[in-house]
Amino acid sequence: MHRLLISGLVLLLISACTPQKEHTAPGKNQVYQYATIKALLEGGYDGDMTMGELAQHGDFGIGTFNALDGEMVVLDGTVYQIKTDGLAYEPGTDTKTPFAVLTHFEADTSFALSGEMSYDELLTTLDESVKSRNLFYAIRIDGEFSGLKTRSVPVQTRPYRPLGEVVEAQSIFQLEVTEGSMVGFRFPEYTKEINVPGYHLHYLDDQRKKGGHVLAVKSATAMVSIDYIPNLYLALPENSDFHNLDLTKDREEDLDKVEKLRN
Ligand SMILES: [Zn+2]
Repeated sequence: MHRLLISGLVLLLISACTPQKEHTAPGKNQVYQYATIKALLEGGYDGDMTMGELAQHGDFGIGTFNALDGEMVVLDGTVYQIKTDGLAYEPGTDTKTPFAVLTHFEADTSFALSGEMSYDELLTTLDESVKSRNLFYAIRIDGEFSGLKTRSVPVQTRPYRPLGEVVEAQSIFQLEVTEGSMVGFRFPEYTKEINVPGYHLHYLDDQRKKGGHVLAVKSATAMVSIDYIPNLYLALPENSDFHNLDLTKDREEDLDKVEKLRN
């Protein structure tokens, strides 16, 4: 009894004294990820990570913003926020994210791509070019695209609903002919609780004006650059929202609904 009381007290003291830790990491050949896709699917839409802090972990990547306020593209070191008007804004350094994935992009291989292709066919071509399904890849595709369909999600208010419900109100944008860059990652199937398994690409045009989460494409004349990455650094939010989310539910159907175009 006495012993139990003491250990309880010690635990209380430890939790009261534990400071917030900084999310620091060495930089190269690493995917830096903040929070998990599962947390986002459950409605974990507020994080503590600022754009200023995030920028230290990569010059290339994707994600979203607090309250689910749009799609994030990080390209050549600049963060862009594509809101539900389909337009790209540059968020301030104090703007926060609940989910982001970045790397310092260095292409290992690149090849040209040309012709009519559906999004699935484009992804199949990428799959033929990656050396293993079990590593992480950053993917950049620069060029001209036709029939590009992208989307963004509307800013949310509390209490937050799961992403599978929220995405029903997404805005879809059709870009008939556009020049720009697809930016994103391929994650292995075995990481599906942590990130989107397979490809997850966002788009930003060359004018840095339009973009979104890529849903479909009809043709591409483009250069594909692939950076293979053997390290993953996962930083978790230190707030009560994240601490209290139930991350045990099966959200696989929701993930499909969120990531892909429904016919
Ligand atoms: Zn996305």
